[in-house]
Amino acid sequence: MATLTLSSLDKKYGGFHAVKGIDLDVADGEFVALVGPSGCGKSTTLRMIAGLEDISGGQLRIGDRVVNDLPPRDRNISMVFQSYALFPHMTVAENMGFSLKIAGRDAGTIDTAVKEAARILEIEPLLERRPAQLSGGQRQRVAMGRAIVRDPDVFLFDEPLSNLDAKLRGQMRTEIKRLHARLGSTVVYVTHDQIEAMTLADRIVIMRGGVIEQVGTPDEVFNRPASRFVASFIGSPPMNMAEAVVTAGRALRLEDGTELPLPTAFHVAEGRRVVLGLRPDDIYPEGHGIHSESGHAVESRELPVMLSEPLGNETLLFTELGGQSWTARMLNPRSVKRGELLRFHLDLSRAHLFDAETGLTLR
Ligand code: ATP
Repeated sequence: MATLTLSSLDKKYGGFHAVKGIDLDVADGEFVALVGPSGCGKSTTLRMIAGLEDISGGQLRIGDRVVNDLPPRDRNISMVFQSYALFPHMTVAENMGFSLKIAGRDAGTIDTAVKEAARILEIEPLLERRPAQLSGGQRQRVAMGRAIVRDPDVFLFDEPLSNLDAKLRGQMRTEIKRLHARLGSTVVYVTHDQIEAMTLADRIVIMRGGVIEQVGTPDEVFNRPASRFVASFIGSPPMNMAEAVVTAGRALRLEDGTELPLPTAFHVAEGRRVVLGLRPDDIYPEGHGIHSESGHAVESRELPVMLSEPLGNETLLFTELGGQSWTARMLNPRSVKRGELLRFHLDLSRAHLFDAETGLTLR
């Protein structure tokens, strides 16, 4: 069974604590994405799993084996790097078969494995080329092919698509998803791209400063973020955040004194300092929303459009309320002039509330 278990896994570089005793169980066949801002420890965690980095404390298990002190080649994992790390002097076929050759497999076995991987990735016509004769996307496929031929228990991906342009990144994302569906292998995938994480992963692990902030399905981390940090990290454009104080009349008083009703679902004491979070999807000009407008705690305000960004099937509108800027999403767009006043709906039934001090979600 290709399960992966991290128990109090810890990494110190000299005096610097990069990964602070994290716990994570990855099920057999599960696709888990590690996300977080630069320096949060996601690559270090992946490199500890790969055996490329010593573990300072805790335990790492693959299946029922503790692998803390096992060299990378004995862990039965394959890693795909951002840089592809192909050997320039070898052909595609030689690159793909290299690890099997090192492992002492016979030529026939290697040939079969390479051809099978090439067929899956649709790179059969490229087998005799060298890396310099390939496009970025083709190189990435070869790097994946090299990982596949080893038939590993666990695939590790370290930002594999970040060197590709946006269009190719989208295509390769679909490719990786298809591959995972086909091979059913356990995957740990590091990315700083939350869209990649949302579209690919069964579960997302959000890291910050060497600790795990939240682990959840894409739906959970998007709709039920555990903290302000997770809420701002997941979702594009990011969630609007406004500092507020809860008043005696169960309202949220924003910075400039503007009041919005406190949604009934929240039980928060008067005087408490909070942060109101509302996704751009939940602020929209009347008649142009993503959600149905009936039966919600919709607050309606006439607000100015400061800026609009047409994106084809939708337009992002930037407006002002409570002394700050808010991003709104307008579906079925029409042209909007700068300074135009529109009736915006704020669907407060979908609002999030965070403690202003701790950043933790309030319910
Ligand atoms: P990025 O998205 O920028 O790659 P990351 O989340 O993958 O970031 P890591 O590479 O895991 O971050 O690094 C975590 C922290 O550990 C960073 O603050 C980094 O500077 C530090 N670090 C990484 N490698 C070393 C090292 N060899 N020696 C000292 N500090 C290191």
